Amino acid sequence: MNALLDPLRAIVGAPHVLTHDDPATDLSAWENDWRQRARGRALAVVRPGSTAEVAAVVKACAAAGASIVPQGGNTGLVVGSVPDDSGTQVVLSLTRLNRVRAIDGANLTMTVDAGCVLQTLQEAAEQAGFLFPLSLAAEGSCTIGGNLATNAGGTQVVRYGNARDLCLGLEVVTAQGEVWHGLTGLRKDNTGYDLRDLFVGSEGTLGVITAATMKLYPLPAAQLTAWAAVPSLESAVTLLGLAHQHLGAGLTGFEVMGQFALSLVAKHFPQQRVPLWEDTPYCVLLENSDSESEAHARAQFERLLETAFENGVVSDAVVAESLQQAHALWHIRESIPLAQAEEGLNIKHDISIPVSRIPAFCAETDALLEHEIPGARLVNFGHLGDGNLHYNVQAPAGGDPKAFLREQEARVNTLVFDAVARFDGSISAEHGVGSLKADKLPHYKDPVALALMRSIKQAMDPQNLLNPGRVLPR
Ligand SMILES: Cc1cc2nc3c(=O)[nH]c(=O)nc-3n(C[C@H](O)[C@H](O)[C@H](O)COP(=O)(O)OP(=O)(O)OC[C@H]3O[C@@H](n4cnc5c(N)ncnc54)[C@H](O)[C@@H]3O)c2cc1C
Repeated sequence: MNALLDPLRAIVGAPHVLTHDDPATDLSAWENDWRQRARGRALAVVRPGSTAEVAAVVKACAAAGASIVPQGGNTGLVVGSVPDDSGTQVVLSLTRLNRVRAIDGANLTMTVDAGCVLQTLQEAAEQAGFLFPLSLAAEGSCTIGGNLATNAGGTQVVRYGNARDLCLGLEVVTAQGEVWHGLTGLRKDNTGYDLRDLFVGSEGTLGVITAATMKLYPLPAAQLTAWAAVPSLESAVTLLGLAHQHLGAGLTGFEVMGQFALSLVAKHFPQQRVPLWEDTPYCVLLENSDSESEAHARAQFERLLETAFENGVVSDAVVAESLQQAHALWHIRESIPLAQAEEGLNIKHDISIPVSRIPAFCAETDALLEHEIPGARLVNFGHLGDGNLHYNVQAPAGGDPKAFLREQEARVNTLVFDAVARFDGSISAEHGVGSLKADKLPHYKDPVALALMRSIKQAMDPQNLLNPGRVLPR
């Protein structure tokens, strides 16, 4: 494998091929995953500076039989972007591909290199007078290539869809090192199979995304945020229906947060004043983006909340008076994972269930977990508007979180995933499969779908060089 290093250096330049041969070079930023659940060992980290260089690197690796792990910001949560521990895999880091190539205002599109950081896209769009709506807590580090490879969701899916829905065209280097020039800005193109949709969500197993054409939207005239206490999950679902009716396309966010999840934020970040959580099992965070004015947005919100109070689905509510207050409310929601980490290691799930069935799913699964693992604490929160819950399980109070994970993780996962299957849900709503859930797919995916996925992988990457063992088990 070492014979591959010189050709790689010739392609991208020696400074952009990082190896363990130089003791001064620390590769941990590329080899450790975000949650520190896996540490691999790469043959090399290769940092190409152009699509042509990516193609040449892939060709050289294919000739040498070396497998490739594409990597963007390395913020993925399912151990998909780091090498295994064999010391033979090449990490292909896309972060030097970081140009905004073009913005087409009339076509409402922007074309960007895959290594652009998500926040850069948001800022470039805003500077040009547009909105790029993909937004998630890792936006300062994750790349658009990684967002597309994982079909990332985030906080505005209820209105704008996930990364797939925002993408019109792709440029991709295939497993053979060829370049597919698919950077179309077309909204209508029925000329055969949709290759874009194959690559989006393929987690680096079918091709290397080098650029994308993404949709832009008009900037809203006003954005208002409200926080409501609801007496039950059923009420939260009813409130979602009312919000769709009253706000229409203005509804850009609808998050639910369980009382225990909020109690952790109040406990570990007391400087953040969490409203209304003490006397209610759930709170909801709603966002209304309005194309007219703030006054219009506020009037719409007031009518919605009045109806909700009358129907008994909201017991108390606050509407943010300023952008600063709105940010503070969102910050509370985004602090839940950090508060959970402060409380100790926990078992994370990122599931989706049809919205209408979420209350029954939670009632049944909460009771099951309480019966099977007495004292286990449920940290339930998520993008209710998308039917997506982070249904996490924390060790019993005072217990040893490490021992809890060691002894209970497999059992808890089976209980939760079996319940998800009974409710026609998905075991991965946002984060993907990676290597963390690859062994689960054969149990929970339709067998015909799985067989078709294997055929597609075989056809597109017959040498199994691109991110082997991710998504599909080896
Ligand atoms: C704090 C935090 C909050 C998050 N919030 C959300 C959220 O709200 N919603 C959500 O959906 N996700 C969320 N995520 C996870 C999310 O998947 C990632 O943040 C992001 O989409 C991955 O982008 P990345 O550039 O870091 O990709 P990486 O982590 O580098 O890679 C992720 C996967 O994509 C592949 N890949 C990366 N770049 C390319 C490319 N150019 N071509 C082909 N394959 C590639 C990798 O091989 C890997 O399989 C969150 C993560 C963190 C840490």
